[in-house]
Amino acid sequence: MTAPTPQPFASPEIPDAQGRFGLFGGRYVPETLWFPLQQLEEEYFRAQQDPEFQKELSYYLREFVGRPTRLYLAERLTKELGGAKIYLKREDLLHTGAHKINNALGQALIAKRMGKTRVIGETGAGQHGVATATVAAMFGLQCVIYMGAVDCERQALNVYRMKMLGAEVVPVKAGQRTLKEAVNEAMRDWVTHVRSTHYILGTAYGAHPYPLMVRNFHRIIGDEARQQILEKEGRLPDLLLACVGGGSNAIGLFYPFLNDPSVRMCGVEAGGLGILPEQHAARFHGGSLGVLQGTRSYILQDTFGQIQSTHSVSAGLDYAAVGPEHAWLHDQGRVEYAYATDDKALEAFMRLARLEGIIPALESAHAVAECIERAPKMSKDEIIIVNLSGRGDKDVAQVASKIGLQMPT
Ligand SMILES: *Cc1c(COP(=O)(O)O)cnc(C)c1O
Repeated sequence: MTAPTPQPFASPEIPDAQGRFGLFGGRYVPETLWFPLQQLEEEYFRAQQDPEFQKELSYYLREFVGRPTRLYLAERLTKELGGAKIYLKREDLLHTGAHKINNALGQALIAKRMGKTRVIGETGAGQHGVATATVAAMFGLQCVIYMGAVDCERQALNVYRMKMLGAEVVPVKAGQRTLKEAVNEAMRDWVTHVRSTHYILGTAYGAHPYPLMVRNFHRIIGDEARQQILEKEGRLPDLLLACVGGGSNAIGLFYPFLNDPSVRMCGVEAGGLGILPEQHAARFHGGSLGVLQGTRSYILQDTFGQIQSTHSVSAGLDYAAVGPEHAWLHDQGRVEYAYATDDKALEAFMRLARLEGIIPALESAHAVAECIERAPKMSKDEIIIVNLSGRGDKDVAQVASKIGLQMPT
């Protein structure tokens, strides 16, 4: 018997028609959400095939969002670490300051096609909320953002931004008062107002077709990076690094390289205070198979299947589950998943600021931390691309208090 031909990792069969990535993904929702998801899936696939939609999307990505972003050689970081050559994919330079707007824009265009007049979203660090409020303002859509009460406090700047953009921000006071509870509220709102409303989910997570659709709106990160590195170096990179919350910026960078066996990839989760129960958000280091908020994936849960609380210095990585495509890539052994602790992320945050003149988002600093670990062990003719998913303006007050920075008097 001949061995079956291995399936390419990026293929039209993945996810399958039910939205499954092997054991992961799917559509685990109450009946009331089945129909809107079905409708969304059909409209999304129609849009994808429609040259007018693609043209409109490209137009706004270029003219409003600021694509393409640069692939920037981090000269001083490379020199100081003394190993692989380090490039930064500058998603931090996008309008609103993070990759999130690639997806928010795409989904807002889908909402318009469906004749929806209202969009809702959940947000952790507030970046997805800001991106959603921004595109809603731009297209004249009503906008409501659900945000955990704890996150509202630690990301106050983004709450002000959303309000200035005309969005209503609803602080969610249930449970741990962070992202998971905000998603619950958004789903509740969607069920109630489904005729007028599209739910702009902010990461490569949730019920089918969200993980597929969000990945496709972000794959432009990897498509550009691939072309840019070929122009600059005449070859593919050896290692890709990206932080993983729900997994959207990481899958966006990784996806176009999945079928290139020479390109290694590593997703970096939030190690928080260390890998002890409820002290981190590293789903591949303590999580197990389960269902949460519409999909099947690796989840931080107790033996009764109750969702465990999580901790990370970065609100954007502080979530108990990971996108199903990452779970699949993990189990296939195609992508490796590491974690960076709060301390390492803070150190990386300061190091990038001082060495490169770039203040990264705390989320992105997790990817930089992994780069700091690995680059010195690699040879000088190897290449790393780090996805700089966002800029750190939203985090400066928090970091200042952590490192004891005082205002000059
Ligand atoms: C939201 C966010 C993340 C985490 O979300 P993913 O879906 O895993 O990308 C990472 N970086 C920044 C800057 C973010 O705003």
